[in-house]
Amino acid sequence: MGLQGFAVASAAYMYALDYARTRIQGRHLTAGKDPEAKNVPILQHPDVKRQLLNMKAYTEGMRSLHYYYAWCNDVVHTTNDQQLKADTAAMVEVLTPIVKGYVTDRALEVCSHGIQIYGGYGYVREYPVEQLMRDSRIFMIYEGTNGIQAMDLLGRKLSMNGGKAFQYFIDRMKQTIEQFKDTEGVQDLSAKVSHAVSRLETLAKEIGTRSRSDRLLNAYAFAHPFLEVTGDVAFAWMLLWRAGVSAPKLAKKTGTLDREAVAEKAAKTKKPHFMPARWKPPGFHSHALAGRLW
Ligand SMILES: Cc1cc2nc3c(=O)[nH]c(=O)nc-3n(C[C@H](O)[C@H](O)[C@H](O)COP(=O)(O)OP(=O)(O)OC[C@H]3O[C@@H](n4cnc5c(N)ncnc54)[C@H](O)[C@@H]3O)c2cc1C
Repeated sequence: MGLQGFAVASAAYMYALDYARTRIQGRHLTAGKDPEAKNVPILQHPDVKRQLLNMKAYTEGMRSLHYYYAWCNDVVHTTNDQQLKADTAAMVEVLTPIVKGYVTDRALEVCSHGIQIYGGYGYVREYPVEQLMRDSRIFMIYEGTNGIQAMDLLGRKLSMNGGKAFQYFIDRMKQTIEQFKDTEGVQDLSAKVSHAVSRLETLAKEIGTRSRSDRLLNAYAFAHPFLEVTGDVAFAWMLLWRAGVSAPKLAKKTGTLDREAVAEKAAKTKKPHFMPARWKPPGFHSHALAGRLW
């Protein structure tokens, strides 16, 4: 189900990006009242850029999480290391409601941005994004509604193996932070993700305890928001991981990690190693995702 959500979100993002590059509407903000100023592609309007960045951050988070989830499943089925097998199986269990519930919630949001970027055309059947949003709505319902997925995370996965399964998930994120905390270009992001992970750890203990007390109804009223923040942090982890791996490679290829300089070079080439930098603030939404727990 998560894969379906990711597929429609990814398609919506690519359609919207393509449309935003070619749809000419409205003058550039900096043109002021210049009567000679020409209309520009809508990609140049900050609000359209904001939505595309949102779509990109979520879609790339989904992509990485799915690769990682699939890798975990492979490890469970192939490793002879019994401890690794048990830990990774626990990770699969914790990630399942995130991959199903959080991803499909975000897929709807990405598809909605897709319609918005198309404007009025987005709402009609003649353009593809309408179909994608309609399709994405069912992913939140079947194979366990997302409300039930959220309850699964809070009620089963949080206390699984006496809390060890969820702790393994937290520790694995901390490992990535430790790995990249001194990597040039991602130190700031590592610090933010680190802060978000420790807030999540505290929150998980608090809501877990509450769910086993006489305040369980209150805890379960927050099951879905808890799934949302857990998913946000998982995506921020994935985006940090990607940034940590790619930053040194990008610096080697381009000679700099200065965003303006890399973006300028990126604008002049179609070489793939520049792609991560083509959007000027690639870290922006990873920061935003990590920041939702502040
Ligand atoms: C297009 C489509 C294809 C489908 N394909 C299949 C299929 O191939 N196989 C199959 O088995 N099913 C299929 N379904 C059924 C689907 O899995 C159910 O619709 C879904 O599980 C929700 O069940 P329900 O419709 O009975 O809603 P309900 O169970 O009545 O739920 C209604 C709402 O109440 C919430 N809710 C219900 N119980 C609780 C609870 N205990 N605690 C908190 N909240 C709760 C739900 O989250 C939901 O928001 C399909 C449905 C659709 C629409």
